[in-house]
Amino acid sequence: MAIRPHFAVTPQPTRVLFGSGSLERLAVEASTLGQRALVLTTPGQHDLGRRALALLGPSGAGLHAGARIHVPQATIDEASIALAASGADLLIPVGGGSAIGLAKGLALRTGLPILAVPTTYAGSEMTPVWGVSEGGRKATGRDIRVLPRAVIYDPVLTLAVPTRVLAASGMNAMAHAAEALYATDANPVTDLLAEEAVRLLADSLPAVVDAPDAPDPRAAGLQGAWLAGTVLGQCHMGLHHKLCHVLGGGWDLPHAESHALLLPYVLAFNLPAASAAAERLGRALAVPPEEVPWSLRALHRRLDLPASLAALGLPRDGLDRAAELATTTAYPNPRAVTRAEVLALLERAWHGSD
Ligand code: NAD
Repeated sequence: MAIRPHFAVTPQPTRVLFGSGSLERLAVEASTLGQRALVLTTPGQHDLGRRALALLGPSGAGLHAGARIHVPQATIDEASIALAASGADLLIPVGGGSAIGLAKGLALRTGLPILAVPTTYAGSEMTPVWGVSEGGRKATGRDIRVLPRAVIYDPVLTLAVPTRVLAASGMNAMAHAAEALYATDANPVTDLLAEEAVRLLADSLPAVVDAPDAPDPRAAGLQGAWLAGTVLGQCHMGLHHKLCHVLGGGWDLPHAESHALLLPYVLAFNLPAASAAAERLGRALAVPPEEVPWSLRALHRRLDLPASLAALGLPRDGLDRAAELATTTAYPNPRAVTRAEVLALLERAWHGSD
């Protein structure tokens, strides 16, 4: 049995409240963190934002529904004005990673605490990782000030989220767990969490798609997303996340769908150099370790997500530049990465070939 001979563990102090109907506790949870809260969300989730604001009662300082995917710098500038006008001392993003990303951008500037209410499986609520895009590039970093102080997971809220969104963001969560398993800063606890995250997500995502009104699969997926977000918050990611950031920042490709598509290709490249990770992934997916990439490709097909980088909107002449951007700076990865190998991987994903 492979054990990790050296490791360090730094637990992260986010309070987590999980359960159907737990949004009702929003005002109570908020009162432990601040006096007046600004609710942040994406334009499409305006109604959910208004509901959160109503639940806050007198401690609600306003609603700003200006979050956008990949957190463009301009959206932080706009939200900063709304924040100053509101006088809020607490940020409450409700929605997916875009809403939470905007709150993180504001927290980075102001140091204000965040109470997050996630409605997708992206996992950002459990991490000190921020990301901001500007001029065709996405910068990311880690800062403890952006780690939400509390998270309310209410699975009921995910019933309003389209199944395709949950399927894609569930695969995004699975990518966090998969790369955490071969991270250089993984530890025995993150290994357990990551394996269980993959198991929960692999079991629940087909049911989320097949039975859109059933609450149990959505709750199981949300628990998997919590665990995956937790390991994302503690481990540095590798080639897979690098590629998705490059494609999101450079070509505005949809974040979760890019993760979902690329994961089997990257794991086919990386897992031969990460046998312990392959073993855990195989156990979670109930397949032999060498069949993990194939199994995830089959799951991706089963979820009926966009089948190629071409379908996601990447122009063919972008492949070379993407391979260059993904290999100019060093990052931890179980296998050394050359530009030619990344280009070959991207070519296959562009065509959607097996
Ligand atoms: P998202 O927030 O853009 O949401 C995806 C879709 O879900 C949107 O169309 C949104 O309108 C819809 N949606 C969300 N809540 C809904 C609700 N309650 N009802 C109906 N529809 C709803 O995307 P995402 O996949 O959740 O997150 C992606 C973003 O998060 C990217 O910018 C990514 O970089 C970031 N992210 C960051 C981290 C981190 O640790 N910093 C981790 C994961 C993702």
